[in-house]
Amino acid sequence: MNVLLLGSGGREHALAWKLVQSASFSPGLDTLYAAPGNPGIASLATLVRLDATDHASVVAFVREKAIGLVVIGPEAPLVDGLADSLRAAAIPVFGPSRAAAQLEGSKGFTKDLCARAGIPTAGYVRVASRADADIALTRTFSLPVVIKADGLAAGKGVVIAFTRAETDAALDALFADGEAEAVIEEFLEGEEASLFVLTDGTTLMPFGSAQDHKRVGEGDTGPNTGGMGAYSPAPVLTAALEQRALDEIVAPTVAAMAADGIPFSGVLYAGLMLTAQGPKLIEYNARFGDPETQVLMMRFEGDLIATMLAVAEGRLADLPPARFSDATALTVVMAAEGYPGTPKAGGAIIGLDSARAAGGTVFHAGTRLEDGGLVAAGGRVLAVTATGDDLASAQANAYRAVEAIDFAEGFYRRDIGWRELTR
Ligand code: ATP
Repeated sequence: MNVLLLGSGGREHALAWKLVQSASFSPGLDTLYAAPGNPGIASLATLVRLDATDHASVVAFVREKAIGLVVIGPEAPLVDGLADSLRAAAIPVFGPSRAAAQLEGSKGFTKDLCARAGIPTAGYVRVASRADADIALTRTFSLPVVIKADGLAAGKGVVIAFTRAETDAALDALFADGEAEAVIEEFLEGEEASLFVLTDGTTLMPFGSAQDHKRVGEGDTGPNTGGMGAYSPAPVLTAALEQRALDEIVAPTVAAMAADGIPFSGVLYAGLMLTAQGPKLIEYNARFGDPETQVLMMRFEGDLIATMLAVAEGRLADLPPARFSDATALTVVMAAEGYPGTPKAGGAIIGLDSARAAGGTVFHAGTRLEDGGLVAAGGRVLAVTATGDDLASAQANAYRAVEAIDFAEGFYRRDIGWRELTR
C-alpha cells in the first residue's frame, strides 16, 4: 500500500519511522510519501510538495499515486477540514473531521460537552466580554484562576493568575480589541499526564501514556514551549488511574460525540490533571503530541499502518489491544538558541551518526540541508530518543546520544525525567 503523511516535525519523523516498519507486515508498505517532510523524513519517504490548504490538489495527488491511507500529523489541517475533503472522496484518512477536531480547536465546545456528559474537568464559565468576565470572577471564582482564549493558541493563550492584578492584566490583553471568546476556569492542583487513545468513533484502543516538560528551563522554569522532552510510560498514571480516565473521561467523550452526530475518528490525546479526586480533563488534542509521539513510537510494537487503517475504516473492534514494549523511552529536544523567543537559524549540526552509534534514535524537527550539511531551521531542531529498562537507564542512554551531537548554537535541558526520578 502507498501512504501519504502530512507534516514536517519530530512527531511526523517518528510516525514515518514507525510507518516504514509496517513493511514487514501484510499488506505492508510500498511507498511512503511525505509532504512537506524534513531531512530526517527524507531518508524514509519520498518528499513531495503539496499545499495542505488546497484540498482538491491533495485529493488529486492521492488518486494519482493510488494512496490507500493519508495520515494527518498536525492540528491545523484537521481544523481546516482536510479529513472531511478526503473522506468525501472516499479516501481512508487517519484524523478527525473538522467538526470533531473542535475537541482541540474550541475550549468552549469541549467544556460544554464535559458539562453535558458529566466528565470531570475544572469548573468554568464561558465569557464573551470584559463585563461578563468581571461578573464571573466576583461570583464564581477564587484565586488562582485560569484564563484561556478560545481557539488554537499553541499554549500561549493560557494565563494562570495568582493575584487580582494578574487577572486584570490577562483580561485586559484578551479583550484589548473589545469582543473575544474566552473560558475562565477553576485552578486544578495535581500532576499532569497525557493519555493517548485511538478511536474510530465507537471503539477505544488505549495507546500509551507520557509526561512532557513544557517549560524551557531546567526544573520546569521559564516560558512555555512546544515541549522540551518527554518519557513514556508515565508511571504516575497507574493502571487504575488510566482505567478511571478511560471510563470517566475518554469513553463518555467518544459516546457523546457519536450521539451528537460528529463521531471522533483518529487519536484523542487527553491532557489530564491527576488531582486528589482523581483524573480530570485539562484539554483534548485531536492529534498526536510532539514530542510524546517520539517516545510512544519507540515502544509501540504493532503494525502502525494496519492500525491506522482500521481507525480510518471503522474496524478497530476487529483488532487486538495495542502492544507496547515494557521498556521506558525518553526523548530530549535540542532547540536553537533563542527558542521559544526568536530561534537562531542556520546553526551547524554534526555528529548524528555518533549519536546513533551511542544507541540513540534521532528524530528531526526543524532541520534543513545547506551545502550538504545539516543546519537548524526552527525552534525545536532534534528530538534525541532512547529506551532503557527503566527511566534512569532510558535517561542515561538518551543523554549519551545527545552528548555525541555537536550543535554549538543549540541547547537542551539536562533534567528530562527529573520529577519521576526524584519521586
Ligand atoms: P497547549 O497547546 O500547550 O496544550 P493550550 O493552549 O491548549 O496549550 P491548555 O492545555 O488548556 O492550553 O493549558 C496549558 C497548560 O496550562 C496546561 O498544560 C496546564 O499546565 C495549565 N492549565 C490549564 N488549565 C489548568 C487548570 N484548570 N488548572 C491548572 N493548570 C491548568
